[in-house]
Amino acid sequence: MENLENSKFEDLKVQCKSCQNIFNWTANEQKYYQKKGFKKKPQRCDKCREKTNTLRNENMFYIHCGFCDQDGKMLTPPPKDRVAICEKCFKKLVKDPFSLKS
Ligand SMILES: [Zn+2]
Ligand SMILES: [Zn+2]
Repeated sequence: MENLENSKFEDLKVQCKSCQNIFNWTANEQKYYQKKGFKKKPQRCDKCREKTNTLRNENMFYIHCGFCDQDGKMLTPPPKDRVAICEKCFKKLVKDPFSLKS
């Protein structure tokens, strides 16, 4: 087995699992992966990775905030037993619990 520690990193061509395009896995990124202890190669190109991130955003729950009376998004489903709260109000509430009146 080749010792990765001493091996030089070179840009590698990797095929994206999603769009089948060949993309560059740069030496810098490889170093980063090794530092992080990732064993696997990246599976997707930057574009597809970006797409998955957007998808994640689209999977957020839309709520109507009971505090500011505006529509907002949440990562978790809105609670059924109490008023929903948007991220903005939640942050405010955490910082200063008395700044909001329900
Ligand atoms: Zn791709
Ligand atoms: Zn709000």
